[in-house]
Amino acid sequence: MDTHQKLDLLGQAASFDVCAPSGRSAAMARGCAEQPPDVRPYISHVQLPSGQKKPVLKVLLTSFCERNCHYCAFRAGRDLPRAAFTPDDLAAAFDQIQHQGLVQGLFLSSGVTGSVRTMDRMIATVEIVRQRYDYRGYIHLKILPDAEEAQIERAVRLADRVSVNLEAPNAERLATLAPRKEFGQGLMDPLRRAARAIARGQGRWAKLGLTTQFVVGAVGESDRELLTTTQRLYDELRLARAYFSGFSPIPDTPLEEHPPAPPARQHRLYQSDFLMRYYGFRFDEFIFDTEGSLPLNMDPKIAWAQAHPERFPMEVNRASKATLLRVPGIGPVSARRILQARQQSKLLFLSDLRKLGVVISRAAPYVLLNGKRPPLQLSLFA
Ligand code: SF4
Repeated sequence: MDTHQKLDLLGQAASFDVCAPSGRSAAMARGCAEQPPDVRPYISHVQLPSGQKKPVLKVLLTSFCERNCHYCAFRAGRDLPRAAFTPDDLAAAFDQIQHQGLVQGLFLSSGVTGSVRTMDRMIATVEIVRQRYDYRGYIHLKILPDAEEAQIERAVRLADRVSVNLEAPNAERLATLAPRKEFGQGLMDPLRRAARAIARGQGRWAKLGLTTQFVVGAVGESDRELLTTTQRLYDELRLARAYFSGFSPIPDTPLEEHPPAPPARQHRLYQSDFLMRYYGFRFDEFIFDTEGSLPLNMDPKIAWAQAHPERFPMEVNRASKATLLRVPGIGPVSARRILQARQQSKLLFLSDLRKLGVVISRAAPYVLLNGKRPPLQLSLFA
């Protein structure tokens, strides 16, 4: 198999990981680093926290794997064409593609053929890219389960972003999803070590931070479980962000008969995650049903507002930024603009809010403008 055939095969394989770009769930991943894939399966587009979009080489070092995760196309024993790069060959291929101007970054993940050995080879690949080819641009390096402390520290020093995929929100769910992965020592410990190493680097190492990914809808985990763990990671490890990958059954795996996760579920999880990261919501404020599910038919912010009639209508001319952010249709940018604009004059009309970027159709039922309800909301609050 030549280098281009390997790139095609291992690039396609890497699209199953959504902690960086792939085409599998772009529309769902609001604010997520995903865009439709290039015609070459190994090129995807990443959106950086700055909003800048870059094409990257997204590839596995190897699609051979000794593990048997129930959801995975590359689980041990599954019959499919597989390939592996040497660190030298992959680094050289990246250098060539990068000099052709096709990509501006590298996302490197891998199947596992001995955790420590494979992690060593991934690190060696990135070292060659950084040192032999003197590449200073964007690199996202996956940290494998059971990676050692020294490997994690090295990965964090070499990459701009690192990730450890938890896949499930707790040990019980992981045991059903991926029997040869261990939640505590195997995944949480590397995640914690990576977080500590990033903190030691004081902004110089892995400066775009640490991410994780969950598989959604494969083993009965609830939205409450997923968001509880996500909140903990934001609070305790300063995780940059979590990704939610809707389960999709793959033939010839133990979950081949399991139904796919509804795309709307993934969307509601991303909306809730966004509210936690940018709007000051805590996971336990979301409205869950008795099974711990978010409502699929309603934006989680609107669901919260409807469950809290005592908080509305809110006087826009007096509310703090934190309380403005609770109003459907008002986001961080429009809240900031409201605070600035009302220093000049009172906001009296919905048209004033519209000019500041507020989504009027959502906000109108929930606001007072100088003590008056705008006409649109009278019927809703009568
Ligand atoms: S470790 Fe699990 S998820 Fe990763 S490639 Fe192997 S079988 Fe797939």
